[in-house]
Amino acid sequence: MSNAEVTSTTMSIKDFEIGKPLGKGKFGHVYLARTRKEEFLVALKVLHKAQLIKDDMAHQLRREIEIQANLNHKNILKMYTYFYDEQRIFMVLEYAPRGELYKSLTKAGRFDEPKSSTYALQMVDALEYCHQNDVIHRDIKPENILIGYNHELKISDFGWSVHAPSSKRKTLCGTIDYLPPEMLNHQTYDKNVDLWCLGVLVYEFLVGKPPFESAETATTYQKIKAVEFEYPDYVSSEARDFISKLLVFTPSERMPLAVARGHPFITKHNSSNDNNTTTTTTNGN
Ligand code: ATP
Ligand code: MG
Repeated sequence: MSNAEVTSTTMSIKDFEIGKPLGKGKFGHVYLARTRKEEFLVALKVLHKAQLIKDDMAHQLRREIEIQANLNHKNILKMYTYFYDEQRIFMVLEYAPRGELYKSLTKAGRFDEPKSSTYALQMVDALEYCHQNDVIHRDIKPENILIGYNHELKISDFGWSVHAPSSKRKTLCGTIDYLPPEMLNHQTYDKNVDLWCLGVLVYEFLVGKPPFESAETATTYQKIKAVEFEYPDYVSSEARDFISKLLVFTPSERMPLAVARGHPFITKHNSSNDNNTTTTTTNGN
């Protein structure tokens, strides 16, 4: 995908009324904002060029913008457009009024099976759409998922996403709880990394913590490589089967998304399983 495919824009900060701060990331602030003309609510992410260049993140941001601007799915946070001035880059994002999944999960402790199943299906939909468009997310975890007005999940943060296939190595930073074995071992990887992360995510929905969590990073590392984890008694056999078919060491042996969609853990709690009704695809490559 080339840079030219992201629609350039004549918008400027003057076209927005800025509201309350929604949050703060490593590279800037996010504000609730409203377009003056249409009175349309958005989240405006403001990044400082100097900081991005200093931290060598300009390349990653460019990739994030290119990928996110070309994806169009109800469970993926929409990036409507972007613009910039001398000092700053502005990303005009879909506003997710119910905030972070991470916070919602922390508050609830854990989710019950119907809710976990519904969320799992939304993730299956979004990831299937990404993979169909040759995008691997690579960084699926509750911190990178927001919640829309109708309680629908919105995957955000495409900072680590890539166009498949890739032999790029991921720089290890932050928690390793969601890293698949092939990424720990610095092997090449493909879209199957997202299947592993989906397994970790659904486990965390149901249990309230990720499956390989340990006090020591080295222990987590060993457990991931050995695929060593346990289920608390309250996790149903359908849920165990679903997770166990995703947390599989060999990438190509993980349950494909099309199969996951029809798994009893999903079908039991989602009556009309035809959630995947997107019509727009990326205009990339
Ligand atoms: P990082 O810099 O590590 O990526 P981050 O993902 O938390 O951190 P941002 O994406 O800049 O940083 O977002 C900061 C916070 O602002 C989020 O954690 C979230 O609470 C809020 N936020 C971001 N985008 C939106 C949005 N579209 N709708 C509602 N809230 C948002
Ligand atoms: Mg982020």
